[in-house]
Amino acid sequence: MAAQETTGSNVETLMTTLNGVRSLRSQVTHYFRTVAEGPKENEDDQQQQQQQQQQQNQENSSSSSNNICEKYALVLENIKNQLRDLETQVGGLTPPTTTTNLGNTGVISLDPSPDKLRLYHQLLDCYTWTEKVHCYSTTMNQLLHGNSLKRSSVSISKRRRPTQYNHNVPQQQVDMTIQAINQMFQVMTLNVSRPFGNNAVVQVTLGRVLRAVVTLKGLLIEWVVVRAYNEPLLDEEGKVDLYTPSQYKVFQKVTDNANAAMLNFCSPGFTDLSVRSFFTWLHSYQSLFTGVCKRCDMHLHNHMPPTWREFRTLDPFHEECKP
Ligand SMILES: [Zn+2]
Repeated sequence: MAAQETTGSNVETLMTTLNGVRSLRSQVTHYFRTVAEGPKENEDDQQQQQQQQQQQNQENSSSSSNNICEKYALVLENIKNQLRDLETQVGGLTPPTTTTNLGNTGVISLDPSPDKLRLYHQLLDCYTWTEKVHCYSTTMNQLLHGNSLKRSSVSISKRRRPTQYNHNVPQQQVDMTIQAINQMFQVMTLNVSRPFGNNAVVQVTLGRVLRAVVTLKGLLIEWVVVRAYNEPLLDEEGKVDLYTPSQYKVFQKVTDNANAAMLNFCSPGFTDLSVRSFFTWLHSYQSLFTGVCKRCDMHLHNHMPPTWREFRTLDPFHEECKP
């Protein structure tokens, strides 16, 4: 009995909330329609305008525009209040923990009478629809609450596994991941610092070839700058310089490619893998000035070494020889 009572009150709240949504939508539509139609001259105004002179008319029109602004503000205020009420009502709703069950209605399909069969199909459609709404709203809820800084592509896994977001991980995990990557490569050293609080900045030194600054947000790579080995990593104030580009064209090109790689390897849900893949890719620049292009077999092309590394094979290519 108690369960039924709670279900009943839930349904009532849901009805009230849905009504709230409907009236809010109608208010918003009304507002936009009023704005789109613009100010209306009513008959009184027209009579006044006929009687009064041009200068007075100007004053009159300015006062009528004031009136309209007030009217709009009033409607907006109303919308704001309704939205607040709606949010309170939504807060009082409890989401269903289990999916809707067809229950005894499933037995209707066994009835051979064609009149009642139609009812079964309607019920089935209704069930599918409810299931879809449930699924979409779950995904929407995750997206809206999970990641306010989402990248352009959002992968929704088919197994409905909750997506892990890389930007909200504890500092220790970031340190451990970077430490593990540091041990993977002999020639590449990574130094973690936190000049801006929680988020780590990794200073990379790759042999005597290049230095890079990788800015992380959690375990999500936000920004990469690659500079020559002899260019400073710190700015004049002794802080890590995150933005100044290299003065050399080669490293400007590598920076561009590193940012492309950062986006390519970014995969929400596989926290460690994307960071590890990126650093493995960056490590392949060890042969920036010694490796030959995979296509033309030359060191230089247009006075530039092979500045591109293929994402999967890590083969060097000139910009013009890219596959
Ligand atoms: Zn080439």
